[in-house]
Amino acid sequence: MAGQVFAYITHKAGKADDTALELVKAAGKIYPDAAVTAIVTGSGADLDALCNEMTASYKEVWKFDNDALAYPNAEAIRKLLVNVLPQDAVVFFGHDTFGMDLGPGLSIKLDSVFLPDVVDFEGLEGDSLKVIRQEYSGQVSTHVSCNISAGAVINVRPGVFQPDESGSAGGQVVDKSSEAGDLTVGRHFLEIVAAEVGDVDITKEDVLVSVGRGIEDQDNIEIANELAEAMGAVVSCSRPIVDAKWLEKPRQVGTSGQTVKPKVYLALGISGSFQHMGGLKGNPFIVAVNKNPKAPIFQVADVGVVDDLLEFVPVLTEKIQEGK
Ligand SMILES: Cc1cc2nc3c(=O)[nH]c(=O)nc-3n(C[C@H](O)[C@H](O)[C@H](O)COP(=O)(O)OP(=O)(O)OC[C@H]3O[C@@H](n4cnc5c(N)ncnc54)[C@H](O)[C@@H]3O)c2cc1C
Repeated sequence: MAGQVFAYITHKAGKADDTALELVKAAGKIYPDAAVTAIVTGSGADLDALCNEMTASYKEVWKFDNDALAYPNAEAIRKLLVNVLPQDAVVFFGHDTFGMDLGPGLSIKLDSVFLPDVVDFEGLEGDSLKVIRQEYSGQVSTHVSCNISAGAVINVRPGVFQPDESGSAGGQVVDKSSEAGDLTVGRHFLEIVAAEVGDVDITKEDVLVSVGRGIEDQDNIEIANELAEAMGAVVSCSRPIVDAKWLEKPRQVGTSGQTVKPKVYLALGISGSFQHMGGLKGNPFIVAVNKNPKAPIFQVADVGVVDDLLEFVPVLTEKIQEGK
């Protein structure tokens, strides 16, 4: 049996990322009886409020307040975690840009197992943990068994586990700032550059009709425009559509595009890679149309339609127009 269980809380200026409450659920799936400890790092006034907020879901919240941690610099946070984590720790992160930056190096430093992009857990027997993870942009699901006796760094795919909203943990904040140790690093934060907004701001829209490579041809984007118009929505897209210059960069959803928080997200011909889904926050109602029944997007979709979008979408648009 591995050691103490932790979840790293990602936040922007004191506002927790959605993964904050998902990680405790993910950890609970393999450690139903363990008290999971949240680790919150940063600097300044925002930190106390965030730590207090996390006590609703975590029994213990370790706070590290330090100027070197003001910006989530993975190198500094890796150094901190190496300094403070006990031996054999099992640490959960979101599998987002930050988790990918931090996780591999941390597992090497801790001499523990690294499990990226985990989408489910099949069980823990003794030190043998079985997980399901995805490879090749989600085209292949792999069932992995590994020995976590020396601990583990587990990156969980955002949005796969329901957030813990019970608010019943009744936890406490423990200020561990004095134990941070030396956080001198070579990588320094310079500035945050906001993404271009362009003619539409998809980050502010409640309903997005998003097109992926399955749209097949630039001319077919008109089908999505017509559906969006009928629904009062805006068209967004996956990265290959921007790479092909069929739509502008400000319409791209994902880790290298925009982070959006719509109420409803229609994914048309989008496979559901973690880089795409990483830009989708706030637990929207997802409707996926894809002709491949095994497309990863169906694992997170609320409604899945297995069909050719080029046939399905015009009919849907017609029905919506008729219903008006
Ligand atoms: C560093 C990095 C950053 C990245 N950042 C982003 C990002 O910000 N955003 C992003 O989206 N991607 C990003 N990517 C790319 C990402 O890995 C995927 O390649 C991309 O998301 C796939 O886009 P897609 O789902 O449109 O295409 P595909 O993965 O090719 O999927 C197309 C889907 O359409 C379906 N399909 C095909 N024809 C039809 C049809 N007629 N009807 C219905 N369904 C059909 C297929 O079954 C398939 O599931 C990034 C990659 C890297 C390495």
